[in-house]
Amino acid sequence: MGDLCSRLAAVDERIADAARAAGRDPSEITRIVVTKFHPASLVAELHRLGVRDVGENRQQEFSRKVAEVGRLDGLRWHFIGQAQTNKARAIRAAASVVHSVDRLRLADALHAAAEPGQPVLDVLLQVNLTEDPARGGVAPAELEALAAHTAALSSLRVRGVMAVAPLEEPPTSAFERLRGLADTVRTVVPAAEWISAGMTADFAEAIAAGATHLRIGSAITGPRPQRG
Ligand SMILES: *Cc1c(COP(=O)(O)O)cnc(C)c1O
Repeated sequence: MGDLCSRLAAVDERIADAARAAGRDPSEITRIVVTKFHPASLVAELHRLGVRDVGENRQQEFSRKVAEVGRLDGLRWHFIGQAQTNKARAIRAAASVVHSVDRLRLADALHAAAEPGQPVLDVLLQVNLTEDPARGGVAPAELEALAAHTAALSSLRVRGVMAVAPLEEPPTSAFERLRGLADTVRTVVPAAEWISAGMTADFAEAIAAGATHLRIGSAITGPRPQRG
């Protein structure tokens, strides 16, 4: 717990430094702690340390952990992984934000999964910054159509874009491209100002390129246990 607390503080200090270096206000940046592979008890510990945003990338683990942790005051769960359409209901039931909407059918499935009276779901459109179609995310050329389609679904609110930096390219150029793609989405949905980018290895570069939401795992949680 002591280590966790000091790692969290150290990362937050680095976030604040990177924000100031970029002429940005650190308070406009949301730091999401990625807790995948770790036990639900880690989420409770993080919550005690003041963390309010946590991220998970696999639906089964996500749903199990949400049930195990129960209601914690102010805690928001971010779903950041590849989503299958047949898991849309389970994801929607537990997530405050879904970062990984990357195709029309997934947007449709999340919309269809809305229960009566359920609040509008915040979603980000995940963009593939690589040339490899097997990586998650919509191709940049198809982003505008996905934005228009998703924006027309009344139970979803398009908040912006999400991406993972490619392995084979410096993060700075990839994140600058993402910033341009965020502008494209805003031609369709002017209020979609969120940019989810930046992980343990590249969050400072992401902040310099305008990221509003960072998804940071191992720098805060320590090494991930093997998936059991
Ligand atoms: C695991 C994961 C992260 C966090 O990765 P770290 O390198 O541990 O910070 C961020 N985003 C996504 C989509 C992930 O799957």
